[in-house]
Amino acid sequence: MKPIAENPLLHSMQASEMFLQKISPGSNPNTELVVSSEGGVNRQLFKSAVNIRTQHFGNEVYPRGVVEISNYCNLNCLYCGMRKDNLTINRYRLGHNEIVQIALSMEQHGIKSIMLQSGDDYTYPIASLVKTVHAIRKETDLRVILCLGERKRADLEAMLKAGANMYVLKLETPNPILFQKLRPSTTFERRLNQLKFMKKIGYQISSGFIVGLPEQTHHEIFEGLMLLKDLRVDAASVSPFIPNEGSPLKNEPFGSLELSLYFLAQMRIHLQGVYIPAVSAFSLLHKDGQALAMNAGANVITINFTPKTNAKQYLMYSEKRNPVSLERARELILSLGMTSSILQIN
Ligand code: SAH
Repeated sequence: MKPIAENPLLHSMQASEMFLQKISPGSNPNTELVVSSEGGVNRQLFKSAVNIRTQHFGNEVYPRGVVEISNYCNLNCLYCGMRKDNLTINRYRLGHNEIVQIALSMEQHGIKSIMLQSGDDYTYPIASLVKTVHAIRKETDLRVILCLGERKRADLEAMLKAGANMYVLKLETPNPILFQKLRPSTTFERRLNQLKFMKKIGYQISSGFIVGLPEQTHHEIFEGLMLLKDLRVDAASVSPFIPNEGSPLKNEPFGSLELSLYFLAQMRIHLQGVYIPAVSAFSLLHKDGQALAMNAGANVITINFTPKTNAKQYLMYSEKRNPVSLERARELILSLGMTSSILQIN
């Protein structure tokens, strides 16, 4: 075995212990630690993460477009504003033609993948989803990513057959007991089994965690990262917890920025060449939150193409949500001195 100083993995584990001692669970964002700590543990950790990212992806940011196709939801997750019992939002569904038009426009702007995202809307007709996935694959060169929640096996198979490439299903929190409290209508095991099933039948899979949920421990998030490694995920994410006005957890503290960045860097170090988005929730904790996420090892930016009136009703985490536009994504990439296909097209 290499001595500790030369082994980035061991080094990061040691660093993590030191870093975690400085942070208490659920602490409020203390941007000092990340933004201006001089030669601290984190800098070293982030540097290792960025080096690994560069080995796998060079200087390239991968642009993904998202269209939020429905905010109907059958579930009642305690942290989510789209939960079934939130009667204060207007529910909407986008139809086939509208989604295909959006896909065409994404492609014109240099986007490489389209993500169709929604609440767990089991009444959105599966035949329509299949038709839409098929049309996008036929009419564009976009890869299709689905983020539609927990689905029947037959539906997953049908969408894969229609040409879907990847499915995003976050484990949200790796502790099954906490999971059950926060997602009362479903179970951790069910979600995990869906991920395994999708990998088996040929989807690329993506998963990840919300950092800073009430009662969550650092240790279990770390174990969660190891679980993602075992699952051989193709993409992964961490998102800081954002208390949502439309949810029972609305008065809980925000997840910590430092801790979320810390786990993002650990994710890069342990999962190596996976795609990792700098999710927009980072920008709700710090004005440069997404840049900080890129500097902690992320390599994907998700640009929002949901029609503006609908996006306001897609209460994933906050009414203050500020969806990433093409312009903002371009500015971010330029400010980081990185490149991307969205910079080459006007
Ligand atoms: N119904 C789908 C998509 C949900 S929205 C599903 O369950 O997979 C996409 C992601 O938003 C969720 O997976 C969750 O990780 C994230 N999210 C929802 N509420 C959040 C909150 N309050 N804070 C941070 N992330 C949140």
